[in-house]
Amino acid sequence: MLWFPYTQMSKIKEVPVLKGAKGVEMYLANGTTLVDGIASWWSAVHGYNNEAINEAIKGQLEHFSHFMLGGIAHQPALQLAQELVRVTPQGLNHVFFSDSGSVGVEIALKIALQYFKNKNIPHKTRIAYLRDGYHGDTFKAMEVSSDSDFNTAFAEVLTPQFELHIPSGGFHATPRQVALAVQEMEDLFKKHHHEIACLILEPIVQCAGGFNIYAPEYLAAARALTTQYNILLIADEVATGFGRTGKMFACEHASITPDIMVLGKALTAGYVGHAATLATTEVYNAFLGDSYESALMHGPTFMGNALACTIALKGIALLEQENYLEKINQIHGFITAELQNINSQHITAVRQIGALVALEFSSAKNLQGFAPFAQQNGAWLRPIGNVLYLMPAYIISQAQIAQLFKVITLWINQLDAQVK
Ligand code: PMP
Repeated sequence: MLWFPYTQMSKIKEVPVLKGAKGVEMYLANGTTLVDGIASWWSAVHGYNNEAINEAIKGQLEHFSHFMLGGIAHQPALQLAQELVRVTPQGLNHVFFSDSGSVGVEIALKIALQYFKNKNIPHKTRIAYLRDGYHGDTFKAMEVSSDSDFNTAFAEVLTPQFELHIPSGGFHATPRQVALAVQEMEDLFKKHHHEIACLILEPIVQCAGGFNIYAPEYLAAARALTTQYNILLIADEVATGFGRTGKMFACEHASITPDIMVLGKALTAGYVGHAATLATTEVYNAFLGDSYESALMHGPTFMGNALACTIALKGIALLEQENYLEKINQIHGFITAELQNINSQHITAVRQIGALVALEFSSAKNLQGFAPFAQQNGAWLRPIGNVLYLMPAYIISQAQIAQLFKVITLWINQLDAQVK
């Protein structure tokens, strides 16, 4: 029997069964059609069953689908590494592949920790991270994610790391709001820089931890302070990368290059799992030398999978050729227009950036039963805690966005009616 993620199996009754999917539509075995508002955990940005991507896969299948990357290369991996260096912020010149976002984060952390070991700078073994961030479900990733439901069961075995707070005020925070949070970071670094190897953060938007958005000035300050205190900056763009925030990468909002960047999810368009951890030449150079011990000791079996690389290459080509940033801008506008009609005493905040909107409710109870309700009304939406969010494929139409908001409005009306 299937064991579902993030699910109390004793409470599970019936789950829908998917038979097919095309674009942003899902076709269930029971004959129902749903509009998908969350693109398979934000990864299927080109929609399902994309013909161009399907063709690219078929082409690669005729050659081979996978070959170990140890000691041998192939065109899809070589080309994708080159393309990722081209499209990411200037200076990220080295690409290490893995099979999921969490593993990509683990590799980023291992690179940061080993960097200082290789450089003979002892004691830099700890990590700073931002509260309410989320970096994955593996062990080190849990340590640098907030102590949410995702990791409470393992609290006893997780090593505490240094937690910082993002500024209040969202994307357009005041200089004072930013300064307060920057001061906290500076105080921490001043006191503990000799033991901190890296700061890991989700640039601009913290997704699974509650969809909080913060000011680019804070990200710019994080870049400046990490450089000043010889701490590596890791940007986890697993969720924000490839256009989601309105820029190709969220780091561009602050015009920064991190020392290490992690990509996943949209990298492979929701087709197969894959991730990439990129590093600057300065970081990479610390792993060169005579001894085997100074090399990066990681190598997932499926790293650089040829089908995954082929999909990613086609995905990047589509993003550029089809002018997706403009589409994302349009989606932003459609969502802004729909938000004019959203008004509920249960909604405590609305946060919006690029092709992402999050409606925060006063309590998770306000959203209990929402997912099945949405399905009954033709939408695939799954809240996280007290936040209901949309992160659709970039090919979603205005009418489909309207359909999703219709379902949200129905739910809100029902909620508000219960109070009256
Ligand atoms: N980092 C971020 C920012 C994420 O949102 C996620 C997944 N939600 C991960 C890392 C982990 O990725 P994966 O689920 O592919 O392991």
